[in-house]
Amino acid sequence: MRYLKPHYYDDFKCTANSCPDTCCAGWQIVIDDKSLENYSQVPGAFGTRLRNSIDWQEGVFCQYDRRCSFLNEENFCDIYQELGEGALCETCRSYPRHVEEYEGLRELSLTLSCPVAAEMILGCKEKVRFLESFTDEEDDFEDYEDFDFLMFSQLEDARDVIFQILQDRNLDLRSRIHTVSDLAADFQHCVDEDCRYEIDALLEKYSSADRSHTACSLNFDPEDYEDLYSRRIEEWELLNSLERLRPEWSEILANCRSLLYSQGKESYKNLCREFQGSCGFDSKHRDSWSIMGEQLMMFFVYTYFCGSVYDDMVRTKMEFAVFSVTWIQELLIARWLENDKTLGFSDITEIVWRYAREVEHSDQNLDIMEEWLAKRDLC
Ligand code: SF4
Repeated sequence: MRYLKPHYYDDFKCTANSCPDTCCAGWQIVIDDKSLENYSQVPGAFGTRLRNSIDWQEGVFCQYDRRCSFLNEENFCDIYQELGEGALCETCRSYPRHVEEYEGLRELSLTLSCPVAAEMILGCKEKVRFLESFTDEEDDFEDYEDFDFLMFSQLEDARDVIFQILQDRNLDLRSRIHTVSDLAADFQHCVDEDCRYEIDALLEKYSSADRSHTACSLNFDPEDYEDLYSRRIEEWELLNSLERLRPEWSEILANCRSLLYSQGKESYKNLCREFQGSCGFDSKHRDSWSIMGEQLMMFFVYTYFCGSVYDDMVRTKMEFAVFSVTWIQELLIARWLENDKTLGFSDITEIVWRYAREVEHSDQNLDIMEEWLAKRDLC
């Protein structure tokens, strides 16, 4: 088995009750079969509490006020304190570590929805590297009977070229995002038109292209704003229609709508220009935003892009990455306005982990978004 992980992966340490949030609230924690079996045999009063606080039919911990029933007032886990780390279920033991499974390959990542992981990812100044290792484990072949290995290796090659473009710091971030979006659209075209044999040449073209003169077609000029303003409102409606995990998210979305869009296009344009001009930071931090945007794009592409081997939706995976980075920035503009036009690192990490928690950690939300983005691509 081949493993891939970002270079910062092993540095993660949970800050437990000093965490600005907790992963034991707001969503249901699914318990694996082995842990369910162990919990059913714990003796004494704590065993009784355990058995009474599990929804055995669903295989999840019961919740009180949307918090796991074992999360105590100090934000410590009672199972951990009573029975030790080894008694945690698979979900609690592994979070925020995430695994994407492919034939012969497991890709490990830290999810952005954990505040500490978000800080690590956004605070990383160097270009992210992916470390490869091998073990003797073998796949269960039946799980991958229909796995399209050729498509997967083309996706991996495409992702390497995308990483190379996204990490080209000689270009401004918008140009890099624009170029990788084009690459994904061209790849999708080859898949749709059944001419995958052209993909190698396509990747060669993107990887050897002289990008020093790449125009930034995402510049905010007045004409763009006509379209951009209506687009953002449509996208906001989509986000607002998704399942909620935390009530605070509703407030963040509502503030964004009222601060950014309620005064019309002209006001939106001026706000964006002012934010772009200062980036909400002083000049020292402007470069930081570009690096953070790069790390976010790298995160979303690493986590999702190769998953299109299962559904052929290559372009939509890239659209999701761009949508996410765009919307994190949109929410940051609103936060910048709320904070008298200042923005600190903790504001950025908070918006990022909240976005990831709401959008990425609900299968239902992810499905709705993918479908919506795929339809928009068709249009
Ligand atoms: S969200 Fe992250 S840092 Fe916070 S308690 Fe969970 S794993 Fe620890």
